[in-house]
Amino acid sequence: MVTAFRPGQHCVLKVHNSVSYGTRCEEELLCRNYSLAVEECYVQNTAREYIRAYKEVAKAAEAFGEVPDIIPIYLVHRPSNDIPYATLEEELIGDFVKYSVRDGREVNLMRRESEAGQKCCAFQHWVYHKTEGNLLVTDMQGVGMKLTDVGIATCRKGYKGFRGNCSTSFIDQFRALHQCNRFCGLLGLQALQSDQPKPKRTGNDPKLKPKKKTLTSSKV
Ligand SMILES: [Zn+2]
Repeated sequence: MVTAFRPGQHCVLKVHNSVSYGTRCEEELLCRNYSLAVEECYVQNTAREYIRAYKEVAKAAEAFGEVPDIIPIYLVHRPSNDIPYATLEEELIGDFVKYSVRDGREVNLMRRESEAGQKCCAFQHWVYHKTEGNLLVTDMQGVGMKLTDVGIATCRKGYKGFRGNCSTSFIDQFRALHQCNRFCGLLGLQALQSDQPKPKRTGNDPKLKPKKKTLTSSKV
């Protein structure tokens, strides 16, 4: 058995619950509570898989140094509680900061630059590149190299059967804003502009002509 926590270690219990509108029956709310908690674990675990792969690549890059990590979270069931499902994770001690997708600086008045922030930003670029722009780990935040509560945005259809918990627009935003740093360089990542599809040729090749839309959408 793997011991998740040391005796006496401080933990954070997060309760995931949707707003009650009164008309919903208790069973439905319970279902919602369960699925939100499970989704949260799923998102964090998926992000952890990516950061694990990133670590392997970063270790091979010369002079990369320490790599950020996303801390594990656990699903807990408290049957005697009205909101029985929750997640449990280690409490991070220290300055909790969020890192900008643009340049990895802190998202606060200080706007401090740090190695952790730049490595998080390079991680986002690496995942974006690895998934061909279909998935992005967002909300990079935590204390130093320890991250928690990250989000995932995927393209509309999802990526490899997985749909993130953040809007697809995060991906567009990242593509437009991200500025490569030296850690992107160490991993051989290219500036995002060159990742974008080349402009279509406008020759006489009929295959290259834009397809006409024949379906009418009922969406407003
Ligand atoms: Zn980059």
